Amino acid sequence: MSLKLKMYGEAILRERALEVSEFTEALADLVKEMFDVMYASHGIGLAAEQVGRTERVFVIDIPPESDVDAKGNRLHPEVNMPLVFINPVIEAHSVEMERGAEGCLSFPGMSGEIERWSEVDVAFCDETGVSHALHAKGLLARAIQHELDHLNGVLFIDRMSPVKKALLEGRLKRLARDTKRNRL
Ligand SMILES: [Zn+2]
Repeated sequence: MSLKLKMYGEAILRERALEVSEFTEALADLVKEMFDVMYASHGIGLAAEQVGRTERVFVIDIPPESDVDAKGNRLHPEVNMPLVFINPVIEAHSVEMERGAEGCLSFPGMSGEIERWSEVDVAFCDETGVSHALHAKGLLARAIQHELDHLNGVLFIDRMSPVKKALLEGRLKRLARDTKRNRL
């Protein structure tokens, strides 16, 4: 595995990723490596910036037991995980929003309640260039919004309440300092 997980403090996490225009073998390799990094870190989603790349690409793999509503009913039995999102666009979303716990592989050990749209319609391509559309709810909708934020240089701490962010401030400073140190 040549790609490494980028932690908070790396400038690339604040960059806006660029549209993918060619569906090459190199793109397929990037996707494969992103899955390797994501699974090695036990994550359910990963965006290209998190491995130091600027393509508009993210991957998601939500286990069936997490793809459920509050009553335990499966939300997306028809969706085959894992999913590859290239050039994703949210085309519509619910008015209703939902608060829920989120973490991020670039912020080890940290989590916070984040408000997101409850449901989204997302259009995207897979790594072979085939177009797809998906109506997502629950954790999948949340993961799509979290990863799409990454492609725009937005991090989940930006969407935390000021109080929660203030509580994390010491740890965030330490993480950014360690990230810088590890890069030297
Ligand atoms: Zn993240």
